[in-house]
Amino acid sequence: MFPMRIVADLHVHSKYARATSTDNDINGLSRGAKIKGIGVMATGDFTHPVYFNEIKTLLKDDGTGLYEYGGVRFILSTEISLIYQKRMHHVVLAPSLEVAAQINDALGKRGNLKSDGRPILGIPSPEFADILFSLSDDIMIIPAHAWTPWFSVFGSKSGVDTIEEAFGDRAKDIFAIETGLSSDPAMNWMVSRLDKYSLVSNSDAHSLDNLGREANVFELQEPTYAAIRDAIKTRKGFVKTYEFYPEEGKYHYDGHRACGINWSPWESKKHNGICPVCRRELTIGVLHRVADLADRKMGEKPPGAVPFQSIVPLRTVISKVLGKGEKTGAVRTECDRLVRYFGNEFAVFEANEEQIRLATGVDIANALMKVKSGNIRWIPGHDGVFGELIMDEKEAPKGASDKKQTSLGDF
Ligand SMILES: [Zn+2]
Ligand SMILES: [Zn+2]
Repeated sequence: MFPMRIVADLHVHSKYARATSTDNDINGLSRGAKIKGIGVMATGDFTHPVYFNEIKTLLKDDGTGLYEYGGVRFILSTEISLIYQKRMHHVVLAPSLEVAAQINDALGKRGNLKSDGRPILGIPSPEFADILFSLSDDIMIIPAHAWTPWFSVFGSKSGVDTIEEAFGDRAKDIFAIETGLSSDPAMNWMVSRLDKYSLVSNSDAHSLDNLGREANVFELQEPTYAAIRDAIKTRKGFVKTYEFYPEEGKYHYDGHRACGINWSPWESKKHNGICPVCRRELTIGVLHRVADLADRKMGEKPPGAVPFQSIVPLRTVISKVLGKGEKTGAVRTECDRLVRYFGNEFAVFEANEEQIRLATGVDIANALMKVKSGNIRWIPGHDGVFGELIMDEKEAPKGASDKKQTSLGDF
């Protein structure tokens, strides 16, 4: 049997999580996944009692550890916010509804799972891992958006420098981390102590539009929970990840949104990380943290690393070309047209130049080819503000970064 190529988004949120669209339920996620071309979609928020009932009622169990609805396979997924002396978010994937129910029982004794689809618990990470792995060895715990400042394993405001510091003896049971939107694998490859962890990429979407803005591509003999876990752990059958350009992420650079400061780590270091406007500490971004822990130069790829492909959401590209907002009718119409033409959004990024030029006008085709070749620039994201795409060299303001921070290795 030929292996099946499948795109998986392992971390999203439901309408039961704060600041999430009311469309984010099983029905909506299934619809959105098909538009994007996602074959295995995270349920998100299975710890929420009301949503867990919806999951149990709607999803069809075919005995694979994945569950089907509307032609899309679902994987049982949730994110927990742990607040103790540290603050970290972890993605949790469960191998079956039975185990998910046991997780909910165990965690429900330790805090309120009803208040938020992403519950907050006061359990240190090692104990959290003990609780979960005592239920099943097949559970996956994946530190979420591993570098973001406020709530992550390596965050400048919240975290530690190693997985061992975060998880103690349980570090041996952690085999993957989520790179998050503001970092890509190339940045993570600079930190050699992370070589042993697989790098997964997920959308963390709070709306259907954002599903699959980052995702994982697997080639599996059979799509099952065990096969996905195995592909992540061994990297066999883990083909690549789709990545946000890290500059687009909300915490790539250092800065203060309210003070209008958006600095590279170099600039920020020159000022000792202090904002010249309000004199308070800047929000130290992901690039800075990676640079602090890096022991390799940018561009070196460790052996066995899974490759990645950088993409820009289709509506962002079209919005830029048309000069109209991402939510406008004109942008939606062209997005929908291309998705119908190619079958789904990922298929647009898998198409070759000839196919793209046949499908759309010259300006959008040129822009898509630029994205595919990486020939674009950004005003980097900082302090919670998304980065801004610069398509045209002439528009590039002072401070717009090149695609890759080639000098990072010298930092
Ligand atoms: Zn999170
Ligand atoms: Zn400031």
